[in-house]
Amino acid sequence: MKINSSSVPIKRFHIDPQSGTAFSIKQGQIIRIIDVEGEQVSDLFCFAKDEIQEHLSSGHTTDYNGKLFLSKGDTLYSNRSNPMFTIVADQVGKHIMLYAPCSQMMFEKSYGVTEAHPNCLDNLVNNLKSYGVQASQITIPFNIFMNIEIDREGEIKILSPMSKAGDYIELRAEMDMIVGVTACSAGSCNNFEWTPIDVEIYSGDGKL
Ligand SMILES: [Zn+2]
Repeated sequence: MKINSSSVPIKRFHIDPQSGTAFSIKQGQIIRIIDVEGEQVSDLFCFAKDEIQEHLSSGHTTDYNGKLFLSKGDTLYSNRSNPMFTIVADQVGKHIMLYAPCSQMMFEKSYGVTEAHPNCLDNLVNNLKSYGVQASQITIPFNIFMNIEIDREGEIKILSPMSKAGDYIELRAEMDMIVGVTACSAGSCNNFEWTPIDVEIYSGDGKL
């Protein structure tokens, strides 16, 4: 089942700039992640609902898709080789699953920050801890809207996201899951502005 203009979400979440949220989702339901103002990265990490040892895996996703840039038709895999999400719609066309969530340590090491800095790792952990998730269980999230270029030597340049205000990606859940989503707090990957992310959940072909 496809979402159309008359579809009504069964749940919505508004993620304030530099914060996050977490929720559970059933197989067949569809998450729409919306870049409200444009040029905003969102990290998503997920676990199998009944088996927290099974989680999103960058390595497996890269292997089975055979590419680094992900878009409509691609599937996100778990560390046990099971499909977790399929990208069923995408208004941007390029997303990656390469970078660890930004963290206090990253801001200290890479930018010399000494004060506490909002970050995706804390925002994932703080929202997912009620489901029993700890920081050490969060590996590489799906870096939604993140835009990079890779040259022939493998060097990576971080660019501003290509997403414009209101652009979205839709992910169909391939199993029951616990999901954490952020509005990223880092600098260059968000063109140095921090804006909100909206999340809508649709019943899709699943049960409510
Ligand atoms: Zn971040």
